[in-house]
Amino acid sequence: MVLPLLLVVPLLGFSNQVYGIFKEESYLYLNLVIKILIIVFTMAIAIQSWLVFSHLPSNQTLYIGNLFFITALLELVSLVIHQNYSVHSHYAVMSIHIIMRLCLAIGFLFIIVKPKQNLAMKYRYYTYGSSLILVLLTLFLVYLSSRQLLFENQLNKINDLVFLLSAVFQIVTIIILSKYFKKIPKRVMWLICAAIYLIFSDIFFVISKDWQSIWGFSALIYQFFAFYFFLKAIYYTTVEKPYQQLLKIKQDLEHSQQELHFQAYHDDITQLPNEHLLLKTLKESLHANNYQKAIIAIEIDRLAAIRASIGISYSNKMMKLVAERIQAILPPYYFATKLNEGQFIIYINHVKTREELLQFCLNLRNVMKKPLQVQLFSLNGNLNIGIALHEEDCTGEELLMHAQLAMREASQLPQRCLFYKPYMSNGVTDRILIEQDLHKALANQEFYLDFQPQVNLKTGKIESVEALVRWRHPSRGFVAPDQFISIAEESGLIIPLGKWILETACAQAKAWEEQGLPPMKVAVNLSLGQLFQQDLVQMVQEILQRTRLEPKHLQLEITESMTMNIDQMTQLLYELKALGIEIAVDDFGTGYSSLSYLKDFPIDCLKIDRAFVRNIQHNPNDEALVSMILSMAKHLRLKVVAEGIEEVEQLAFLINGDCDYIQGYLFSKPISAEQISNNFKELHRHALEILTQFTYVEDYII
Ligand code: C2E
Ligand code: CA
Ligand code: CA
Repeated sequence: MVLPLLLVVPLLGFSNQVYGIFKEESYLYLNLVIKILIIVFTMAIAIQSWLVFSHLPSNQTLYIGNLFFITALLELVSLVIHQNYSVHSHYAVMSIHIIMRLCLAIGFLFIIVKPKQNLAMKYRYYTYGSSLILVLLTLFLVYLSSRQLLFENQLNKINDLVFLLSAVFQIVTIIILSKYFKKIPKRVMWLICAAIYLIFSDIFFVISKDWQSIWGFSALIYQFFAFYFFLKAIYYTTVEKPYQQLLKIKQDLEHSQQELHFQAYHDDITQLPNEHLLLKTLKESLHANNYQKAIIAIEIDRLAAIRASIGISYSNKMMKLVAERIQAILPPYYFATKLNEGQFIIYINHVKTREELLQFCLNLRNVMKKPLQVQLFSLNGNLNIGIALHEEDCTGEELLMHAQLAMREASQLPQRCLFYKPYMSNGVTDRILIEQDLHKALANQEFYLDFQPQVNLKTGKIESVEALVRWRHPSRGFVAPDQFISIAEESGLIIPLGKWILETACAQAKAWEEQGLPPMKVAVNLSLGQLFQQDLVQMVQEILQRTRLEPKHLQLEITESMTMNIDQMTQLLYELKALGIEIAVDDFGTGYSSLSYLKDFPIDCLKIDRAFVRNIQHNPNDEALVSMILSMAKHLRLKVVAEGIEEVEQLAFLINGDCDYIQGYLFSKPISAEQISNNFKELHRHALEILTQFTYVEDYII
């Protein structure tokens, strides 16, 4: 836009000198060349508009096309006539020129002002046809008037007037156009450029009295530029912009296709490849070469319970952290994926040794030692790991299942890592069947409770019992709680089952009291799933009220793994404590958790896990550990129950260590409520008998 202004300066200053540069002859040729170029341009615009109208049937495209069709024809005729040096032809050329400029200015303004709308295809023929007729008619009139030289004297005046008028039209056009600048900047810019060049061209035509002067020549050049910008604007709207849009659509399409493809094959939480990609990879590569293949299945222990306790979004964050840690130590040939259920599956397509796999699992265990920090929660991500090596006739899905089975088995073991063995496949269908039957078991009253006495080592009395749930399955017979509690937890059935257990245990304790038995506390196991049930405190309170059991006669057992979420648990345990009940930590020492919770939680009692007591006599480590727990409990003023005491030697050690209570087969297996009430004296005497074997037995009898 600035360029025409800049060009004016030399023109103003040196018009005469510049004119002198060219000979008149060459000047005429130049003039001719530019005129031809102008015709080419205007024709190009007309043809282009004609052609694109079938794709962009807007009235503006059509009008522009027509405007330039008229311009092109008039320019063409004037060029032809110009070669004739007669007064008539000069008159005709001038008239045509005036008409052309007027048409251009009015037409341009008209197009800008006219609202955009779409037209039918037939209008292309109508309008171009009318334009042609209009031009022919105009030429005819010009011809007639030039014969008579009708306005010869006024022609110069008309010329100046028309050119000034069209300059004014162009200015109005620019003002109108500039309103659209924000919306379609490029197009408006080209059009404004065209208008500015046209204005200059108009002014120069007015200034130039002689058509062959430098002003006339410049006017032509400016007109040429104006048409060039027109063409540019039209090219931009009809070709470039649609093409760019097309390109963008194409790019967007490709992008969303890639995105879709990525989403289809990746987990949206961790961005790791998902099950589809895993199965696809397995299909492609499992039998591709002779390298040993393997799958490692990894799950976060008790993920369902963690999810229930901290919520989905936090547990997703936790998943992400775990995924990052796994990826950080992933060796080459290890392909990590994540399944929807939250398991991580690592496929290895080139296993050199079994030890290599174990080493990886060890590394994994190491990187998981540091607690996972999710907002305020500090979570211990214990992993259960199953490893399956690929065998000859095994499909990818089978291999995956083997690793998952091994992982399930591993979750039951302290080391939490196992290689797949064929026996593991036997229990699978069983698990599904058990889950089905569990749903009916509660309604069918197939559950019942046994109670295992806990003997106070100081008094020799049975002061408490632990309630243990039993399932009498109609066809399988007795099913051990180890087999169904975890399934009940996973299926959510633990909530109603847990409620039933608590109510039955409390009712039983009250019944014993009413039968005149000495006061006895009943210990009830709580499941992780129950801990995060919304109304746990209220439920316990209601059960205590319904059964009229004194709160101090109820003890709830939680496990160490429930202590992960310290903030939430502290609050919950304080609320439970406020009811007046006791809290015990079950299976103490097996949770691998930091012991810091002991000082935060309102705990009354620790139950040392059977695993430590079992080997006390043979394993100095266990011995040291139990001693340590006992002395620590003393300092924290916690009572200690030693579980799973089967032998007198174990008992001796615990008595020495100043343990408070004993629970184990040595005194009694878990027995029915009737057995307790009927044989209470018997049980008591049996306990005393055992304890009297120790020298300071008298203490107990007092
Ligand atoms: P636990 O809470 O550690 O329960 C103690 C388990 O040790 C019981 O097994 C008991 O029979 C067994 N036991 C006790 N003394 C000895 C002994 O001297 N030697 C041996 N070898 N075992 C002994 P049980 O009844 O099979 O229960 C297993 C687990 O199932 C329990 O471990 C507990 O985690 C869960 N469970 C049992 N009843 C319930 C319940 O009512 N609710 C919940 N949530 N879990 C329960
Ligand atoms: Ca227990
Ligand atoms: Ca236990």
